[in-house]
Amino acid sequence: MQLEAVNAELLYERQEKAKREAELILANIELDFQNHEKEKRAAELTLANTELLFRNREKEDRANELALANHELVFQNQEKQDRADELAIANKELIYQNQEKQKRADELAIANKELIYQNQEKQKRADELAIANKELIYQNEEREKRAIADAKKDEFFNMVSHELKTPLTNIKAINQILAKSLNKADRSYRFIERSNQSVLRLERLIEDLLDVTKINTGEIDLNITEFFFTDILTQSIETVQQISTQHQITLENSVDIFYTGDQFRLERVIINLLNNAIKYSPDATQVKVSAFVESGQITVCVIDSGIGIAKEDIAQIFKRFFRVKKVAKQFNGVGLGLYIAAEIIKKHNGTFTIDSEPGVGSNFCFYLPIN
Ligand code: ADP
Repeated sequence: MQLEAVNAELLYERQEKAKREAELILANIELDFQNHEKEKRAAELTLANTELLFRNREKEDRANELALANHELVFQNQEKQDRADELAIANKELIYQNQEKQKRADELAIANKELIYQNQEKQKRADELAIANKELIYQNEEREKRAIADAKKDEFFNMVSHELKTPLTNIKAINQILAKSLNKADRSYRFIERSNQSVLRLERLIEDLLDVTKINTGEIDLNITEFFFTDILTQSIETVQQISTQHQITLENSVDIFYTGDQFRLERVIINLLNNAIKYSPDATQVKVSAFVESGQITVCVIDSGIGIAKEDIAQIFKRFFRVKKVAKQFNGVGLGLYIAAEIIKKHNGTFTIDSEPGVGSNFCFYLPIN
């Protein structure tokens, strides 16, 4: 029994060994298979590794390239930054220059406006001057026409004056004969006196007309003598007073000195002023003559309270044949009295002034330096 048990035991063990060997073989096969698989996997991993290595190298190359490109970009960026800085500075400079240009442009615009304004003003002035020029040309033409007409008038007056002188002298002679044959108390005697006064006025007018021609041709000669100045004042007043009963002519002061000049013509100047004072103050009753010596000159003023003269006419009043239009029709005259008076005073190195106000009266003064 024991042997059987041992045999059975051995058999069992043998069977177990065989099982175990079969299992080992199986395990071995399994291991082989696994090894084979692992080898395959290892080969695959090697391949993948190689692939990865290759890819890594590629990436590295790319990274290097990118690093290089990056460097380049950084450099370029730097350059661009520098350029941008330069441009910013240049830009600032440009902005400054632009502002300066704008300022200059504004200044130029203002200057331009000023120039345009000045040009417009110049144009206006030029237009005005052109108009004034035309006016001057017109006035010159008018003056020339007037001068020709005046010359003709002078010629005519000269001729007429000479022609009038002879019959007037005859009338004067006849009057004298008639006056002698009459008694002063006779009614006719007064007619003769009036006739004589008219003859005197005509004589004076003729003298005026002849003097005008002489003044124009520069032939007027003064008849210089020494005389007592007050005499011409009193005589002129007397002469004019005779023809006006309405006006009272009074002499304020006098010039009690001897003066050297043309007595007859200076007397005519005063007579002219007095005649005017009476003629142009129809509603007044007073005419004053103020005469005095002061600062080495004689002053004679004839003052009336008549119609007066407007400012714009005063400047023209000494012109030949000038008469104030508004009053010319109302009063007789030829516009020569003041022209001749001014010329005579000028010939004595004297001057004239007029102070007048329409509706109030006039103050005609002349001044003679004492020689
Ligand atoms: P006439 O008296 O013959 O016209 P005048 O030469 O004496 O010439 O005077 C020129 C003008 O001046 C006159 O026509 C008149 O209009 C003005 N005139 C002269 N004297 C006076 C005066 N005393 N008052 C106002 N106007 C005057």
